[in-house]
Amino acid sequence: MRDVTDSILNRITYYLEIKKPTPELQCYIKDRLDTCLGCEHLGEKLFLSKSINFCGKCKCIFPALIFSYKKKCPIDKWDAIPDDVT
Ligand code: SF4
Repeated sequence: MRDVTDSILNRITYYLEIKKPTPELQCYIKDRLDTCLGCEHLGEKLFLSKSINFCGKCKCIFPALIFSYKKKCPIDKWDAIPDDVT
């Protein structure tokens, strides 16, 4: 549940630039995004007639999952973002 809350708050903060993301944080986010987009476990489902993407391993919704800074990829394709970067 903490990952979901972090993900929502961090995504809002990131896009609205409430706390301007550092170039280093942007690199971590982009790396996570690119890795998930190229991952064989990224899936798609219909939910209430809308298509949503999700990770087939941890079942988290994509791209929201990449904004949970403490989260790790369940198969170690990326790690938690260090505290001093967030
Ligand atoms: S979190 Fe990991 S396993 Fe899931 S889609 Fe992204 S790279 Fe793949």
